[in-house]
Amino acid sequence: MSEIIGFSLENEMDLVLSHKRSMQVGEKIGLTVATRTTFATAVSEVARTVIDYTDNGTLAIAIEGNFPRFSIIARIAFSSDLAISTNDEGFYYAKRLMPNFDLVNVDGDYIIQMGLGLPRSLKLDWTKISEFKAYFKNTAPLNSYEEIKNRNHELNKINSVQEEELRQRKVLDEKKTEFISVASHELKTPITVIKAYSQMLSMLKDETSEKVREVLEKLNLQTSKLSVLIHQLMDVSRLENGNLQYDFEQIALKDFARETVLMLTSAHPYHQFDLKAEDVDLVMVDKLRLEQVFTNLIGNAVKYSAKGTKIFVTLEKNDFGATIMVQDSGIGMSKKELENIFSKFYRVEEVVSSHPGLGMGLYISSKIVTDHGGKIWAESEPGLGSRFYFTIPEKPGKMRG
Ligand code: ADP
Repeated sequence: MSEIIGFSLENEMDLVLSHKRSMQVGEKIGLTVATRTTFATAVSEVARTVIDYTDNGTLAIAIEGNFPRFSIIARIAFSSDLAISTNDEGFYYAKRLMPNFDLVNVDGDYIIQMGLGLPRSLKLDWTKISEFKAYFKNTAPLNSYEEIKNRNHELNKINSVQEEELRQRKVLDEKKTEFISVASHELKTPITVIKAYSQMLSMLKDETSEKVREVLEKLNLQTSKLSVLIHQLMDVSRLENGNLQYDFEQIALKDFARETVLMLTSAHPYHQFDLKAEDVDLVMVDKLRLEQVFTNLIGNAVKYSAKGTKIFVTLEKNDFGATIMVQDSGIGMSKKELENIFSKFYRVEEVVSSHPGLGMGLYISSKIVTDHGGKIWAESEPGLGSRFYFTIPEKPGKMRG
């Protein structure tokens, strides 16, 4: 079947279209006025009845068959819960006009197909049929109603393509998340065992040579890094599959910040740290998760700035709780890049090949901060450095900003 023209049957205006377009196709093919009028009348009779039942019908006028025997057919499809038979008045009339008339019903999805054989004298072949198709594809709308209808059709088509793309993207995203979840769990066990063994070996200090000790230290450092990455991967998949779990407790933020920064200072001996912390009221936090935020921000400040440069950390009291700032004088970022840094797996293009990382840290940190009722943001200048800020309210949910 080669469709010459097709459109939906929604209301009375489509009746006019059905009639006019059927006449035009008949004329284009070369049917006599009497035959095309018969065809067009049968089509509009069926279309009228379908529109009476429902507004979900579609009409296709097509040519069917094999050279040199062709038929012109109209195929009308619609769905309805009502039991519809060919005895219905409109169908009955069309049946009498058309030599071939079939009605098929599969669970309420109806297809009516009717048509008539075309005389050989019309000298139809597939080239001509393609020309008819092209003609009606490019033909001007009959009226403004058809113009709007065509435009709607185009828009709907674009819409469904976009919906399909979105659906596929979602499926891919779900698969990716599932993969991350499985992979991180599979990686966690062996890395924990390796870490335990290398720590056991480190304890045998007296029995090992200086060289072996050095290698062990490197092994320990690298397994710790790997372990951090695996935990980040697990957090990302937890974030996708629900939420991070929190164990809130009341703490003195100033002491906590001091201890955490001190711990991170010894982990990053090639940078200088400057901490200024004001006294802050007790705050409710999950200590491990908050430590994760400090570790990420300070780790980034170290990673994206030159050795020997200073990293400033400040803790300021405000009306609602506290604001923490981590400042470096490193490579910085443009405004455009800043907009994306809290998105999952985002990395600034320039750092991809020069600095290790997976673009998960800030995504997880921002979730942790917002789950504490706070806000996280950054300011930066390319080549001059970056400042990351986050707020922690006295009580979770007291503020956002
Ligand atoms: P990672 O550092 O593992 O790539 P993050 O989520 O922590 O992942 O950071 C996302 C991106 O933001 C980084 O890849 C980097 O491009 C940029 N970025 C983060 N912190 C800084 C910083 N202090 N200075 C410059 N760029 C930064």
